[in-house]
Amino acid sequence: MAALTEARKQSLRREMEAFLGAGSVLSDPDELMVYESDGLTLFRARADFVVFPRTAEHVSGLVRLAQREGMPFVARGAGTGLSGGCLPAEGGLVISLMRMHRVLEVDYDNQLAVVEPGCVNLHLSWAVGPRGFYYAPDPSSQQACTIGGNIANNSGGPHTLKYGVTTNHVLGLEVVLPDGEIVWLGGRRRDPQGYDLAGLFVGSEGTFGIATKIVVRILRQPQAVRTVLAVFDEIDQASEAVSAIIARGLIPAAMEMIDQLTIQAVEDAFGCGYPRDAAAALLIEMDGLAAGMDEQAARVVAACRETGAREVRLARDEAERQLLWKGRKSAFGAYGRISPAYLVMDGVIPRTKLPQVLRRVNEIVAAHGLRVGNVFHAGDGNLHPNILYDPRKPGEEARVVAAGGEILKVCAEVGGSISGEHGIGLEKMDYMPLVFSGADLDCMARVKRAFNPTGLCNPGKIFPSRKACAEAGLAYRLHPLEEKGLAQRF
Ligand SMILES: Cc1cc2nc3c(=O)[nH]c(=O)nc-3n(C[C@H](O)[C@H](O)[C@H](O)COP(=O)(O)OP(=O)(O)OC[C@H]3O[C@@H](n4cnc5c(N)ncnc54)[C@H](O)[C@@H]3O)c2cc1C
Repeated sequence: MAALTEARKQSLRREMEAFLGAGSVLSDPDELMVYESDGLTLFRARADFVVFPRTAEHVSGLVRLAQREGMPFVARGAGTGLSGGCLPAEGGLVISLMRMHRVLEVDYDNQLAVVEPGCVNLHLSWAVGPRGFYYAPDPSSQQACTIGGNIANNSGGPHTLKYGVTTNHVLGLEVVLPDGEIVWLGGRRRDPQGYDLAGLFVGSEGTFGIATKIVVRILRQPQAVRTVLAVFDEIDQASEAVSAIIARGLIPAAMEMIDQLTIQAVEDAFGCGYPRDAAAALLIEMDGLAAGMDEQAARVVAACRETGAREVRLARDEAERQLLWKGRKSAFGAYGRISPAYLVMDGVIPRTKLPQVLRRVNEIVAAHGLRVGNVFHAGDGNLHPNILYDPRKPGEEARVVAAGGEILKVCAEVGGSISGEHGIGLEKMDYMPLVFSGADLDCMARVKRAFNPTGLCNPGKIFPSRKACAEAGLAYRLHPLEEKGLAQRF
């Protein structure tokens, strides 16, 4: 987009304010700075405007205005994303959904809720908790992230091992398409007919339109929960315990691994009772019917002991359980105690490859002269190496990026993939050829064009650059629509 003149900027600002109401448009550089990045602070880009709609009609009007002006636009939830997904990579409009945060309806009999996209994930569980229900997908950022952001990234969380990721909990969506039309994809039923367009939208990282209402499943709270902390002197033993538990036919609700560096950061910050000298700890949670729960817990404890756990502790009460989870869920924040910055990597590997891949991760990071803390959803094989660095030290950011790329290659080599849950965004688009062929990417690009033919909706994300395609030996063929000048690839 050509830079806007100051006069044009002022006139657009007035037009949007007249439509949205006073206090709904930001355009001062100081205010825009807050929206320059998400949780991935390595990348920054400044929008021309940040706008705060309150209704789907507002969103639709803003999208139509952006199309009229040839101006890029991107939806933003809480900005906790870790792949640069809501970055205004090419300027234009950031459409913040944070004023659309209500739980609109709860239908307990049919176990569903209708929420606005800016509803904070945990607030939905708080809203339905008093009636004995909850919303299952629980990213570790659940105190801040929004359900709109969760559907865009198809987010996971500790409990996805048993309950699945966001897509398993979405029934329908009201969406403002990139041309401003408001449509419903899916609905309130569990057996949608026709194409599963809601399923297609979930995980599209804000490139297919903007969700303005979301129908989600809510679940009954389990009758019983048991939470175990297993402590190991070797990280390999902890990895083996994960496989041993699954091999016994047990499916815990969650199995999270925390390594020594992370344990120490968490203990410094919160004092959650993790042993500081342990090489790794596993936080394992089982939930379900009360009958048989103690026996299940005993089998988990036995599996941990057999693989070498030096201590296995069962949370005695809810307060102790909450404290153990606080350590895990606050781990990323705790790194702030030991490093000025860190890059949260996100890859996924077959669970059985955990020991080998963790060793490679440590070697790669050490070879770049950096430190890494690991805290991740081990049961899913979902890795989060967190590479610590100091952006003030010359060359350190470049080494972090290089180490991150090597880790993603290892994930792909062992049969895994380059994102377990944080999405591709801006961060990983040039690594897409590691796991997708040219034909795969072309198919995805065609689906994107069907929703987003002008490419103005969240441009510069997911698809590899021409340079990355050339390096991977992938043809960058023009699609017939591109040849006719009807669409452009970004
Ligand atoms: C401490 C911490 C822990 C985390 N733990 C986890 C975890 O356990 N599991 C996990 O999956 N992620 C985790 N994340 C990453 C992040 O929280 C998730 O990706 C989350 O879903 C982002 O939600 P958000 O509201 O912040 O979205 P944003 O960051 O604002 O946006 C994310 C993407 O969603 C798009 N988007 C936002 N709203 C809409 C909408 N209404 N319609 C269409 N597109 C939209 C944006 O354009 C962007 O592409 C963590 C992040 C942090 C900081």
